[in-house]
Amino acid sequence: MTKHTKALSLALTLILAAAPEPVLAWGQTGHAAIANVAELNLKASVWNEIKTLLATDGATHMSKVASWADSQRSATDPTHTTRMPMDGSNPPAHACTGTAMCADEAIAYYARILADRSQPAATREIALKYIIHLIGDLHQPLHGSDPIGYNLVTVNGSTSMIHAVWDDAIIDGHGVASALLAQELMNNGVTVTLGGTPRDWAIESSNMARDQIYDVLPVCWNYKAPACPDAPVALPANYTAAKYPLAAQRLKQAGYRLAGFLNALLGS
Ligand SMILES: [Zn+2]
Repeated sequence: MTKHTKALSLALTLILAAAPEPVLAWGQTGHAAIANVAELNLKASVWNEIKTLLATDGATHMSKVASWADSQRSATDPTHTTRMPMDGSNPPAHACTGTAMCADEAIAYYARILADRSQPAATREIALKYIIHLIGDLHQPLHGSDPIGYNLVTVNGSTSMIHAVWDDAIIDGHGVASALLAQELMNNGVTVTLGGTPRDWAIESSNMARDQIYDVLPVCWNYKAPACPDAPVALPANYTAAKYPLAAQRLKQAGYRLAGFLNALLGS
């Protein structure tokens, strides 16, 4: 470990100790790609209604507001995780840390507001922005598992939390911008399972985290024992490329499920 990475590791440890949840989520590209897939699969009437709501915010596409929720980070804003225990134990009804709504609770809450056409357009648009973002987040494996990835890892000389690798590095490593990525996902010939509820999506994520991420990392937390080790775990140089198909599957599922959710909520 170089002096630099040691300092980085210490800084990350301090940040993690102070923050109840990481200020992270699928990165901009992932959220925008999900929104693009969804938008291209909306019923015409639903897209017309959503387009009108987006206009209250000066936006013309869902992708433009897909990461807005990550800028809303007060203690009362929804948490972007629903933590399903990886050991198979029963999850609590409120499956996240803190008292703010978990992702699944927030999706249900904002769905009621978005569907209520007596609400002001600007209020409904905020609800729409949370739904776009949180349905995306629940498909990031480390937003549906407990723990959610505070492990330090080194991939190709860069040290970060495994959570950040899954938010950004895997998708960035693929190197395709969000509009093209949406087309690629829709046309890649891979059949993905659709349907289900936000809780179901969190359980899928948790199972994937258990089998595909924590298979090589120790299970550890920032808020209870065992604490994550200070020393990063070195991952293979091809880690991001090797995990891309799983990330692509989750982006594709999130996009189609987001479309299905909005079509069911607003399509009549
Ligand atoms: Zn998020």
